[in-house]
Amino acid sequence: MTTSISGIQVHYYSVCQRKLWLFSKGISMENEYDRVVEGQVLHERSYPFLEKKEQMIDNTFKIDAVDGEYVREVKISSKMAEADRMQMLYYLYQLRLRGVNKKGLISYTKERKTEEIVWTPGDEKKLKDVLHRIRRLLDQPQPPPFRRLPYCTKCAYRSFCFAKEVVEE
Ligand code: SF4
Repeated sequence: MTTSISGIQVHYYSVCQRKLWLFSKGISMENEYDRVVEGQVLHERSYPFLEKKEQMIDNTFKIDAVDGEYVREVKISSKMAEADRMQMLYYLYQLRLRGVNKKGLISYTKERKTEEIVWTPGDEKKLKDVLHRIRRLLDQPQPPPFRRLPYCTKCAYRSFCFAKEVVEE
């Protein structure tokens, strides 16, 4: 099955595979607070010039902006830097598949810093492995079991997870 995968799903894979499964199955906690939503609001306030350049590519994924040789993304803080990096690599990979070679810049509003992400030869295999694992995960009839993570307190699914599962510590 070749389901298309979005950048946010790649991000969630690196943060919490249970969250990825719940989100991908359309289980929505729209009334719940989520750092992703906060990030979007901050983005609109802090980077209005990038907002105007937001682009949807082939109805598959949306990137904040293409700025010269860079794809740009804005994040609230670098606490999930590895997930942010994987999401950016996914965008760079998708663009490369379309014959467009770019680098990435991730701006962190809280720390007021910007990280450059440069595509390396090993990234293609790494990303293909992640996409394969995401597809396998989404084929499972049940979400991965609850496992408490530092991110849980900021997650929109926290009431769902904490209500439904018994935490074994
Ligand atoms: S509350 Fe925690 S375990 Fe549940 S989906 Fe969110 S991050 Fe994952």
